[in-house]
Amino acid sequence: MEQVKILIDLQEIMSRARAVETEKRKVPLEVADLKALFEEREAKFLSAQQEFEQLRKDRREKERDIEEEREKVERAKAKLMSIKTNKEYYAMLKEIEGTKRANTQHEDELLAILARYEEAEKRLAEFKAEVEEVGGRYRERMVDVEAKMASFDKDVFALEAKKSDVAKRLDPGLARRFEMIFDRRDGIAIVPARNQSCTGCHMNISPQLFNLLQREDRIYTCPNCNRVLYYEAPASEATGE
Ligand SMILES: [Zn+2]
Repeated sequence: MEQVKILIDLQEIMSRARAVETEKRKVPLEVADLKALFEEREAKFLSAQQEFEQLRKDRREKERDIEEEREKVERAKAKLMSIKTNKEYYAMLKEIEGTKRANTQHEDELLAILARYEEAEKRLAEFKAEVEEVGGRYRERMVDVEAKMASFDKDVFALEAKKSDVAKRLDPGLARRFEMIFDRRDGIAIVPARNQSCTGCHMNISPQLFNLLQREDRIYTCPNCNRVLYYEAPASEATGE
């Protein structure tokens, strides 16, 4: 029967499209490890960058504080000359000493910040080199992966065109129904009936239905799995033995 032959063709095309889709879905997995590595290195780099920026800010603030206090000391020293009383003079000296002490502490803090700053700068350069190296490899692999995906897309597109060409030769209702069965029955929508059973679900079919199938006059489906059935003569009959 003509329709059965078309359905078998259609199933073949749809199966190939499905297989290509399956292969296409596997492609991103090829770079999954590299992608994870890149993201890990990138996160490390970004966190090091943040730490470095913070230290740079701390350093600038500390340097400004020290500069301001030095100026304060200079101003106080200049003022010292014009002071008339001993009391005021000693009060001013005390203030200058206090500012200098505070500044000594700020200088110690600045030294500690500078040590950490240099460490952070070195670490940042290391992480930057790492992220660039892995990023380069990742981008290179992505070019291959995208080319592979595009090639699979091209195959699917060609198969889809072929499929609609073939499906055009079917009754539209049957074509729609066939597609539904294909999706629900894991890509097998038409099967031969052999030895009075459906080769899709292996359930026995009634002798009446089996007889109808042998007439090959219309489309019949399996009462159990709903797949389209067609009669396949036993091998001995087909070869004429
Ligand atoms: Zn069945």
